[in-house]
Amino acid sequence: MRLPADPIHAQAASEPYMSSPSTTVPTKPPLGCAAVMMQVLRGELRERELPFTHQREAIAQILFESTRHLSADDVAAALRQRGEHAGKATVYRTLALLVELGLATEHDFDEGFKRYETQVGAAQHDHMICTECGQVSTFTHPELDRIVAEAAAESGFEAITRQVKIFGTCSETASCRAAQQAYRDAGPTT
Ligand SMILES: [Zn+2]
Ligand SMILES: [Zn+2]
Repeated sequence: MRLPADPIHAQAASEPYMSSPSTTVPTKPPLGCAAVMMQVLRGELRERELPFTHQREAIAQILFESTRHLSADDVAAALRQRGEHAGKATVYRTLALLVELGLATEHDFDEGFKRYETQVGAAQHDHMICTECGQVSTFTHPELDRIVAEAAAESGFEAITRQVKIFGTCSETASCRAAQQAYRDAGPTT
């Protein structure tokens, strides 16, 4: 039996595929989603008797509203754009805290830095990483889900999560070149 589509979170499954750049997809998840996650964060912090500081809220907001896989530098840049300020250490610590609270996932795409994405409501997906321009796109494939489930079952292994990373280069050469330039202009991410 299929579960009815979740109107709040269903959107997470439709992140753009790199192979179909013409598809119109919303660049942000529905607003309710970030708001709901902020409530969850507030509750989790209260439970641990940690303060819900303005900086924590601003950093979490950026991650919750993004459908991208953000580095700490991306988050710091977004903060600056909003006229907010937080030191790099605060950004790192807050992102680590969100991971610890189960509200974000941390990824290592062999770039020398971590990337983060929001977790609540995000459907299981895998990643394709362009080694030229650093673009991270997502994909899902029902056959992959089936194979992973089968492989785990055959070994009597109870799978919690999985990560498939495909490294390669963008098929859209023009957009890859533009992204490469932006990647270089942004300087080294530490
Ligand atoms: Zn992802
Ligand atoms: Zn590329």
